Amino acid sequence: MKKLIALNLVALCSVFIFSCTKAPLSPKKDNPKEESPKEEQNKPSLPDGPVIPDFTGKVEIKVVFNDKPSTATAGFPQLKYNKSKAILMEFDDAALTVIKAYDKLSNTFYTDGCGNNKNYSLGLAVNGKNQYSDKEIGFYTNYAATYAQRLPLVLKGMDIMNHSFYHDEKGNFNNGKDREKNIKDLDAMILSNQGYKMNTLVVPTNLVGFHTSSSEFGYLGGASQGTFDKFEQIGKYTPKLKLSDIKPFEYLAIRRGFSDDWSEDGSHWELSNALFADNSFDFFEIGTHGLKDDDAIKNFNEWIDDIALKAKDNLIFCSLREFLEYTHIKDHVTKTQVIEGNTLTITLDYSTIPNKNISWYDLSLLINSDKAISSVSVNNTDFSLTYNKDTKLINIGKRKIKW
Ligand SMILES: [Zn+2]
Repeated sequence: MKKLIALNLVALCSVFIFSCTKAPLSPKKDNPKEESPKEEQNKPSLPDGPVIPDFTGKVEIKVVFNDKPSTATAGFPQLKYNKSKAILMEFDDAALTVIKAYDKLSNTFYTDGCGNNKNYSLGLAVNGKNQYSDKEIGFYTNYAATYAQRLPLVLKGMDIMNHSFYHDEKGNFNNGKDREKNIKDLDAMILSNQGYKMNTLVVPTNLVGFHTSSSEFGYLGGASQGTFDKFEQIGKYTPKLKLSDIKPFEYLAIRRGFSDDWSEDGSHWELSNALFADNSFDFFEIGTHGLKDDDAIKNFNEWIDDIALKAKDNLIFCSLREFLEYTHIKDHVTKTQVIEGNTLTITLDYSTIPNKNISWYDLSLLINSDKAISSVSVNNTDFSLTYNKDTKLINIGKRKIKW
């Protein structure tokens, strides 16, 4: 009975803490009688360089040992860089304060297990047009993060996530209950004006049908505090999530936590403290509408510092997409291994990966062998390579940011 009450409480709480229940682009804010946001004159900024095609080929890694090994195999760790825990985060509604967050995130690091720093990063869930004025969100200055403001953050590891073309079903301008149109039209707008292809969803408010459309559209996964359609979400009752619950997937729905209370009482502290307290769960995802004032920024910065301290370099802090793409690729790439003399050759065939919108092609491998590693090489110069002879961890990395 007690358990039932507890579960009901959890369910009730998740009903009350839906994100975005307050209209993010409220009529008050957009009332033409008040000072309305200025439309940006500049063209959206796009990454330099040509569009590099999706990678669907093979990568060959050669591991040379200092003697002929009797056994040598390569396996994929559960998390990139062989970390044991993860925090996934996103700012909703293209929150402008994501820029303030990145002041902190881009100066906070974990290592790749091979001596190289990776800065913390997260996702930005965006809408297409304001449902009261029909103006394009990516062009607003001093209101939401514009196309131009997003680009340097993308270069620092940020992902852009689909949060529906119009946020709500109602308003002067809306797509009603047409989830497919909301997903598809926003995807086309971001592709055209940001040069960026999205691969994950954040359900707006608690609207049913978005996960289904997102999956049918070919995205890899999505998050919500309580709406999952037909999908059996990771995190049945709470956002305290276990890696062992993730089976090979083509679309994954995840229960996330949420905090707009950037104070000592905010739920972000409870989640991070619990994550490091024991091994009862491995990761959580959390969303926010942003950091409303200097106190909120201070609390966010303290929270990030506290996480970095407690993590002891055993945690990855990134977007849902970066996390999901690693998991999806390791579960679907075709790996073959051949030992010849002192050399183990690992071939990774990316053509068997179902998802076609990959941004992070990264993989980590752990070598199990009775001989020490003398050197490692990769046959494709588009991929970065790092390795650690002591732990026998190898990382290859390649990120696509322009489509
Ligand atoms: Zn929202």
